[in-house]
Amino acid sequence: MQLLFICFIGIVIGSICTKVGMHFPIEESIFEKSTCSHCGYKHSYIAFFNYFINSGRCKNCGARLRFLPVLNEAFTGLFFALSYYIFGFSYSFFIAIGIICLLMIILISDLNYMIIPDEVLVLFSAYFILVLFFKIGLMSVLLQIGYGIFLFLVMYFIMILGEVILKKESLGGGDVKMMFIFGLILGPLSGVFSIFVASFIALPVSIIIMLKSDNNAIPFGPFLLISLMLFFFLQIDTDFIINLLRF
Ligand SMILES: [Zn+2]
Repeated sequence: MQLLFICFIGIVIGSICTKVGMHFPIEESIFEKSTCSHCGYKHSYIAFFNYFINSGRCKNCGARLRFLPVLNEAFTGLFFALSYYIFGFSYSFFIAIGIICLLMIILISDLNYMIIPDEVLVLFSAYFILVLFFKIGLMSVLLQIGYGIFLFLVMYFIMILGEVILKKESLGGGDVKMMFIFGLILGPLSGVFSIFVASFIALPVSIIIMLKSDNNAIPFGPFLLISLMLFFFLQIDTDFIINLLRF
């Protein structure tokens, strides 16, 4: 029952995240209702419930409703429930749902516009710092912030190096800025490892997309965040990696 309630909250918040990712990068109001792409009819705010009440079709013209927002909301709900199942009602739970929300926003905005909005990153950094402050105290938070800055600088250096060697933009600025959040949450070692894991996930997916279409600009942001989520949910920390390296 509790899980169902958390799932419901997740769907509602997922709807907000989808709207932020959809409208914020192009400076539209995020309080738009979901409109039918065919006739412009305004539906209720939450695509998920809308979709199932009207069995996937527009109330006005009968055209098929877009499925991506529904999928996004459903996943947010599901992962919210999963977070609650793993972490209970704890500070870790609030970090977990923060990562999920960030992923959902970036997924939409990076896929549609290849943009990771600075405002979103700043807002979420502040949120994570606040939750971590309550979780581990001031001194530890300052250390984590230091790790964040460190990881950001490392990636920034790699980006500059990549530009010099490849003579073109290799990494998006948004991806590099996002590294602050990785260092903040995971620390330096897990942070670096999560970047490797993200590349491993991204590689096969990119190849498939490149083979199927001419599009060779694939956003890296969502892969990074999926990797961050994986690390946080599986609680892969520095000790775990050191143990792994010993073998
Ligand atoms: Zn319609």
